[in-house]
Amino acid sequence: MQFRSTKSEGSSKTPVSFKEAVLRCLPPEGGLYVPASVLDMRQFFLYMDEHTTYPELVATVAPVLLQGELNPFSASRVAESAFDFEPELKQLDERFSILTLYNGPTGVFKDFGVAFLASVVEELTKIGSRIMVLSAARGDTGVGIAQAFYKRRNSIAALLYPSGPIRGLKPETFVPNGGNCIPIQVRGTYDDCQRLVIESINDRPFAERYSLTTANGLNPGRLLPQAFYYLYGFIKLKKVLQGDLFFSVPCGNFGNLISGLYAWKFGMPVKGFVAAMNANDACGEFFRGKEFKARRLISTLSPALDVSVPSNYDRLSSFYEESPAVMRNMVFPSAIDDRTTLDTIARVWKRYGVLLDPHSAVAFAGAERCADQQDMSCGGAHFVVLATGHPGKEAGLVSKAAGAEVPIPEKLAKLQTPGEPLAFIDPQLDALEAAIASSF
Ligand SMILES: *Cc1c(COP(=O)(O)O)cnc(C)c1O
Repeated sequence: MQFRSTKSEGSSKTPVSFKEAVLRCLPPEGGLYVPASVLDMRQFFLYMDEHTTYPELVATVAPVLLQGELNPFSASRVAESAFDFEPELKQLDERFSILTLYNGPTGVFKDFGVAFLASVVEELTKIGSRIMVLSAARGDTGVGIAQAFYKRRNSIAALLYPSGPIRGLKPETFVPNGGNCIPIQVRGTYDDCQRLVIESINDRPFAERYSLTTANGLNPGRLLPQAFYYLYGFIKLKKVLQGDLFFSVPCGNFGNLISGLYAWKFGMPVKGFVAAMNANDACGEFFRGKEFKARRLISTLSPALDVSVPSNYDRLSSFYEESPAVMRNMVFPSAIDDRTTLDTIARVWKRYGVLLDPHSAVAFAGAERCADQQDMSCGGAHFVVLATGHPGKEAGLVSKAAGAEVPIPEKLAKLQTPGEPLAFIDPQLDALEAAIASSF
């Protein structure tokens, strides 16, 4: 599978390998990397069923997708070393299932993409080479990246935190303590950190000096492995499915949804995707075929979905440019307000005994709404709701909404431990270089 830029349609640019896309992250011609062509994988799904484990699925699918770059033996090693956690499919009734994606180290689905990326970067880079993985960090994403890259033989993980508290990092992972992580605090906002990552990668002499890449969602190496858990959901259900299959996805930057669309392109028989948003639903118009217009950000109870311009917008619009009619019939936008989010947490707890975090509740409510709309011909359909965040991460809110006690696993409690960065810098390239040079 090769990758091209969202900006290179119709141009003479030759596509690049997966390795190059992952290590370079941003195409020279601008835009973001997307698959240039995809394989139909249906014959492989045929031979997997509810007994297939997650590492088995990854080790089967990845070498086919990445033919010539990752052999089955390497793919097995990547899968085994990336995943000591798994997705879990729970069928609730004939209409709904939940695909739990929060069993990883930081309790969010992003752990799947980051873990695979760290593992595959180690596999694809030569012994003795060195890679600097520079990433903007917010909430627990920094911890996720630090843990995934810890002890990976070729990588240094430089994390750019915005002003404010830093939590959950383990000092033994820091470079001066023999680890490979450099937490840096940038005097500025998360956007400043992101801008600095992009500026660093686009400054080619700088990027090549440090073999720079990123573990942020810009990296196509995070999106590809997210397609694997959709396939996993499908193979767990395929024997019992009677009608059409839908996935309902809580959408912020739309990386998760895009991975679902990849899974469809690989041949997963899916009827559609519910793009569940909160009050920040500017993309709804876009999905209905209108022009995208950014709106002012509204703060909600599902903050990971509070995004005004999705960072994956270029990838989304490239799907729509390729096949506008298909996309209009495949992606169903749904906007869920905070009241409905809370009601859904309560309803799902009462009806099924399942606790949802607010992001997953947005997806659940979106699925219910679609299931109830007969004119969308969802009758007899089955909805797999992606549970993207551990309810224990929002224990106060979830416990109040559900009227139940919410267990907090110890590993999630530890994410609250306060920490200190190794350096403070202004959001500028020379300051960044000063902070990382001695560790490289
Ligand atoms: C990041 C995140 C989302 C949104 O995912 P995108 O890929 O940005 O659309 C949803 N739920 C949780 C819990 C998240 O952390």
